[in-house]
Amino acid sequence: MLNLTDLYQEIILDHGKAPRNKRTMETATHWAEGYNPLCGDQIKVYLQVEGETVKDVSFSGNGCAISQASASMMTEALVGKTIDEANSTFQSFHAMLVPSDKPDQAKLQGYDELQALEGVKNYPNRIKCATLAWHAFKSALEGK
Ligand code: ZN
Repeated sequence: MLNLTDLYQEIILDHGKAPRNKRTMETATHWAEGYNPLCGDQIKVYLQVEGETVKDVSFSGNGCAISQASASMMTEALVGKTIDEANSTFQSFHAMLVPSDKPDQAKLQGYDELQALEGVKNYPNRIKCATLAWHAFKSALEGK
């Protein structure tokens, strides 16, 4: 495992072992798949969007603990958000892990557990594991 702080490591392991919202979704209005060839992580993200609201988020697939934990946390962070809020959560999360992004990122609001993944930025070959589900979410939303 990575050398993160104990608390953060515990949160990641917990989500990795018992992912939340890991299920296929019959009623999905949007979905997309992501594949991370560096690690072999494969994730499919399902959304149920009603009007401007992301009513439900789930995922399926397999991969390392980081990819699973990140997908799990993402579903909890995005459910119930408006599309705008979900997009800005994506941007904040991405900026936390990818240093080339603007440093004046908005803080991740209302879902502190996501910050457990911040330490992953020190392990460049694992960043794709943490962002995989998020990119799938973005693709699903944009209908790509
Ligand atoms: Zn991985």
